[in-house]
Amino acid sequence: MKHVAEGPGWRFPGPLRYAPRTMARRSPRSRRKAGSAKLPQKPRVRSAPGRSRSSAKKRGTHAKKGARGTAAVSRRTARKKPVRATRPPARRRFLAPDPVRVSAVLEQLRELYPDARCALDFRTPLQLLIATILSAQCTDERVNKVTPALFEAYPDAASFATADAAALEKAIHSTGFFRNKARAIREACADIVAKHGSQVPRTLEELTALRGVGRKTANVVLGNAYGINTGIVVDTHVTRLSNRLGLTNETDAVKIEFALMPLVPRESWTLVAHWLILHGRAVCNARKPHCGTCALAPHCPRIGVSTSA
Ligand code: SF4
Repeated sequence: MKHVAEGPGWRFPGPLRYAPRTMARRSPRSRRKAGSAKLPQKPRVRSAPGRSRSSAKKRGTHAKKGARGTAAVSRRTARKKPVRATRPPARRRFLAPDPVRVSAVLEQLRELYPDARCALDFRTPLQLLIATILSAQCTDERVNKVTPALFEAYPDAASFATADAAALEKAIHSTGFFRNKARAIREACADIVAKHGSQVPRTLEELTALRGVGRKTANVVLGNAYGINTGIVVDTHVTRLSNRLGLTNETDAVKIEFALMPLVPRESWTLVAHWLILHGRAVCNARKPHCGTCALAPHCPRIGVSTSA
């Protein structure tokens, strides 16, 4: 230690007192000597608002590698594509069918199917009611194979109403949905016995009030068993052909029926359903309609048809 000059007035200062010096903590960067070379650094990836830095790093550093990175880059590029200014073509407004064209279609159908009749075999209104209930989700041919033995075993409404559920289900098993159909038959016949003196009613309101009987079944019974035109039967064929022929643009069965009723003379309401069903089965198939050989082609706008056989 280097001493300062010790003169006469000098006194030993006593023990040295060191005030504790607080050392400012220095960061590694500030401690770096001036002039030292800077290491090349990777550009700092900044995170976008709402994203963590780690995800931003992934995007900046690693996302380009591999299939995912490529997809991410291509997605970003795709997003930047300018949006097309053109609008998709507006749906064509449905135009009410021309009465002259509708008359030509009906005349052609009448000529094509002069012997059109109900495809279900029956002798009484009750038998037709039962056969129509059985024809749901089943072919008419299958129903016609089941009904002769069924009508022999259960000759009237009372016998159906009091039938053993298991025996009835077994008898109609091959028509499908046999539990629901057996219940509908028993309940409808119980109503017929209790409220209508075992006779099938002759009005739409009374028929549709029977349990298990809807508007379509009621129209079938009234039109074919009683010759009463109260409505038009609309099934899958009638729906398809009505749309393709431009008679309606509805898809709901009841709406189609109400759209067809003003177009078709009332006396042909039952027949028009048979005509359209027969034409749908023979020519205007669901998948490949035979437009090239169809007699209705000159009057048909072929709406919704993209391919034909
Ligand atoms: S022209 Fe074609 S779409 Fe029209 S009714 Fe005939 S088969 Fe059907």
